[in-house]
Amino acid sequence: MAARAAATTDDPATRAGTVERTEAGYVGVRADAEWAREIRRLAEERDAVLLAHNYQLPEIQDVADHTGDSLALSRIAAESRASTIVFCGVHFMAETAKILSPDKTVLIPDERAGCSLADSITAEQLRDWKATFTDAGGTAPTVVSYVNTTAEVKAETDICCTSSNAVDVVRSIPADQDVLFCPDQFLGAHVKRETGRENLHIWAGECHVHAGINGPELADRAAANPEADLFIHPECGCATSALYLAGDGTLPQERVKILSTGGMLDAARESAAQQTGPHSVLVATEVGMLHQLRSAAPEIDFRAVNDRASCRYMKMITPAALLRCLREGADEVEVPAEIAERGRGAVERMVAIGRPGGGE
Ligand code: SF4
Repeated sequence: MAARAAATTDDPATRAGTVERTEAGYVGVRADAEWAREIRRLAEERDAVLLAHNYQLPEIQDVADHTGDSLALSRIAAESRASTIVFCGVHFMAETAKILSPDKTVLIPDERAGCSLADSITAEQLRDWKATFTDAGGTAPTVVSYVNTTAEVKAETDICCTSSNAVDVVRSIPADQDVLFCPDQFLGAHVKRETGRENLHIWAGECHVHAGINGPELADRAAANPEADLFIHPECGCATSALYLAGDGTLPQERVKILSTGGMLDAARESAAQQTGPHSVLVATEVGMLHQLRSAAPEIDFRAVNDRASCRYMKMITPAALLRCLREGADEVEVPAEIAERGRGAVERMVAIGRPGGGE
């Protein structure tokens, strides 16, 4: 049942709407101009910088100070002079921002915004997995974790990676050393194929959105749109199977561009500026990215490979949730200092190896 969290009054501070909490998220507020003004006013009052992930609702992207991928946003957060970071994204992203900015207040508009990929391995499962090597008297394996993991899992990790540098990260590890790769099985399979490494052990995790962009569907869409390029974002579990299919020849490789979200925007702008680029592009990633692409290059016809590929967690950051967040200073993201410190080491080693790319 919906619980009322604030009452509507004539006070300008609450006129933007009445926030209601439901199982699916906070609702009850229309994202109109008054809402946007109120969001900006409250952000200033809180000395907050508003960061929105590329997969957020368009109105959240438009009201934010910065829109981008999770690692770029975390870096912006660390460099910002604002004392508060409002991270409009999913929980592990806000945690990563907190790990990199331990002295700042980090808020997420709805702490229930999780990630099925990050949830597919817990710190305890990872410890148990490591123990299967050491209990038998072997040397401890090196753990490589995709950036879509909780802070606790990062603390058990030797090196984090994004899909852009996953291959480089694994190559940086001595060839005779066992490597545990988690949690995304598709990215793991891609890395194993690229490195030819038999001692790479892969956790069987995946993202629920990925199931909506399956290989046959992607191949069918590519065949039905022979003039279109394919932009595939490998960072967000949802497209890592596409990365695998492009590599094994199932997809027409010359039309496939594996790009971070930032890379997609650059490629779109470049194509539009040259006017020689493709007129249509199939985009294999979470559908929120289309808003950024269409704004960057309105001349190009961007189409989702699967328009149902929408992350319900990302969409929990509603206009009502953001309003409540700024009004109440909630939900605050905390990472215990010891976990943050160990997790920070894994993230910093990732940044030091190869090109970390766009992050998720
Ligand atoms: S799209 Fe998948 S990997 Fe990305 S945040 Fe949502 S659940 Fe996680």
